Amino acid sequence: MKIGIDLGTCNSVVFIPNKGVVLQEPSVVAVALAENKIMAVGRRAKEMMGRTPDNIRIYRPLKDGVIADFKVAQAMLKFFIDKATGSFRFFKPELMVGVPAGITSTEKRAVIEAGLNAGAREVYLAKEPILAAIGAGIPIDSCSGNMIVDIGGGTTEAAVISLGGIVNFHSIRVAGDKIDLAISDFIKKKYNLAIGEQTAEEIKINIGTALPDKEKEEQNMEIRGRDVVMGLPKNIIISSNDVCEAMSDILTELTQAIKSVLRNTPPELSADIISKGMILTGGGALLRNLPQLIEKSVGVPAVAAEEALLCVAKGTGSMLSNLDMYKKSIMSKK
Ligand code: ADP
Ligand code: MG
Repeated sequence: MKIGIDLGTCNSVVFIPNKGVVLQEPSVVAVALAENKIMAVGRRAKEMMGRTPDNIRIYRPLKDGVIADFKVAQAMLKFFIDKATGSFRFFKPELMVGVPAGITSTEKRAVIEAGLNAGAREVYLAKEPILAAIGAGIPIDSCSGNMIVDIGGGTTEAAVISLGGIVNFHSIRVAGDKIDLAISDFIKKKYNLAIGEQTAEEIKINIGTALPDKEKEEQNMEIRGRDVVMGLPKNIIISSNDVCEAMSDILTELTQAIKSVLRNTPPELSADIISKGMILTGGGALLRNLPQLIEKSVGVPAVAAEEALLCVAKGTGSMLSNLDMYKKSIMSKK
């Protein structure tokens, strides 16, 4: 049995060849501290965020795309594999895991180790930009250049791919989480209202926009938080253009990173990219008007991939189904 997994900072997605995506859950674990026992994993654990008493702790065991808390990450991986494959599993599965392009060898070893301890027979690793490209349907083996920008929770990775390999890439620790933080900071400053991480994320997903909406098209959302002066619960209404303003500095950092990759791209490949445009993947690609903002500030067309949240996982599935064909893209195995 073969299992592909996108072990993301925010979300984990499991893909089984011939079946498709079988699991998509937040990479979150709730631990009962007294018993040192896992209480919940995934969606159920995420729902507890910001609402826990002090004997329960919420972990996000991945940071910037790599394992930050080994024990918890391993337990989470095991939970996802078991849930995705069911309890009747006679053979140890082969596992393909997506990892950031800039991963160190120590960080790689941690992923392999966690996979083996979680019950895999063999663990293959491949770079996320390559997997994202495959999952987005880009023919990575062609000698024409392709640019992929994966915007996740912790990191944004922009990479230029040609002939099945990464020609150059740039990774920054600016992505969804920082956007959420910028939104809650903005609301605190402008409205004296403290809101939680989850509320900030909901605002971004519901009404966020990378370019200001025209006056008539502005969207509003009622949010609830705590008044920082009075200390009491309060509701306010915020507009999509508030959110746009809140995010604008972060989005500038993001477009700068994309520009810096393009500046370091050999001219033949940049010509390909300008004519084809870049593909955005990861949850951040779903931010309203982000492709338009990138196109406007970078001068290269951008489109969000179909099912942007699933591209890396789909890529792991295709690679597993064609291990021979992708031999040279598989980084290491054990
Ligand atoms: P990771 O690979 O780091 O786990 P994902 O690719 O799963 O990350 O993307 C998660 C990020 O995408 C989160 O910050 C989430 O808030 C954001 N996201 C998800 N859907 C949307 C949306 N519709 N608009 C904007 N951001 C979104
Ligand atoms: Mg990701």
